[in-house]
Amino acid sequence: MMKAIMKTQEKEGFELCELPVPKVGKKDVLIKVRAAAICGSDLKFYKWLPWCKKVIRSLPFIPGHECAGEVTAVGKEVQGIKVGDKVAAETHVPCGVCWQCRHHRPHTCENMELFGHTLNGGFAEFALIPEAAARRIPQEIPFDYGCLLEPMGIPFRAVERGDVKGESVVVIGCGPIGQFAIAFSKIFGAETIIGLDVNEKRLSIAKKMGATHLINVKKKMFLQEIKLLTKDCGGVGVIIDASGDAQAMKEAFSYLRVGGRFVILGQTDEPLALNPSMDIIFKEAQIIGLFGREIWDTWEKTEKLLTSGAIDPSPLITHRFSLNEHERAFRIALSGEGCKVLFIPNRNSGIM
Ligand SMILES: [Zn+2]
Ligand SMILES: [Zn+2]
Repeated sequence: MMKAIMKTQEKEGFELCELPVPKVGKKDVLIKVRAAAICGSDLKFYKWLPWCKKVIRSLPFIPGHECAGEVTAVGKEVQGIKVGDKVAAETHVPCGVCWQCRHHRPHTCENMELFGHTLNGGFAEFALIPEAAARRIPQEIPFDYGCLLEPMGIPFRAVERGDVKGESVVVIGCGPIGQFAIAFSKIFGAETIIGLDVNEKRLSIAKKMGATHLINVKKKMFLQEIKLLTKDCGGVGVIIDASGDAQAMKEAFSYLRVGGRFVILGQTDEPLALNPSMDIIFKEAQIIGLFGREIWDTWEKTEKLLTSGAIDPSPLITHRFSLNEHERAFRIALSGEGCKVLFIPNRNSGIM
């Protein structure tokens, strides 16, 4: 038997359940979960917001898609992974046969299953990952960093596509995704990195991750402050939205430099009202939407940054909990008093 955090009913909250350890199918990998991180989408599942019904096909399910662990069993047809390997989960499980999959875009598969959404996830002692979404990670990456490779991937791509070298960069929202966007901007040689948030604690973490300037957007004059800071470089060259706040995105077009790039990661269903002439055409603005990680290119790149020590995710891991403490963990994650909140199941077994 194993413990698992489950969504059992269409209402707020999760339950800690006991259920049998899943059996591996032919193409599955079973891992003993050693670290799993709470993502913004898990908070939506916790609260059971209207969005969830668009994503989740049936209850109950086990949430948690950012996870890493050690392989304890593999299916008959699994070839690339063996018992004892260290593995992290990719959320986007591709079908392998659709147009997107056949054109080197498995991360935007048309028949995508989502680990921790449409498939059971990793907030449990054991998790079943289809081989197509199981990533063997280097031994030297500890599990608690390994589970962050998934959320590192999107901000990594944002910085890559934003082409930030020598640029002025604004990162909207200093949650975990924004924090990684700041850290990667620094690694990729951005000159000015401005972190925006309403939460002072998160702004102080952003400083550690490499932000050169921090602005609390509760302040009335923050738009002027951004313009003043980037006056000498003609405005903000690269904006990365990790807030999912349509109002903040709309405002951001006012400080995007002509010829600038606006990378949108934060998800929202709110409409974004733009003036095509002023905001896009005359600005020659490039608006880039990113969804998921390139499989496995993005993983290879972020793994290298971890193994070389170029990136240190430790400042943004603010809390670690056992599965038993799930209520507290979600309360803290929802309050914004933490940044990345981790579950460490099987805490007392073996090394990290
Ligand atoms: Zn996530
Ligand atoms: Zn596909």
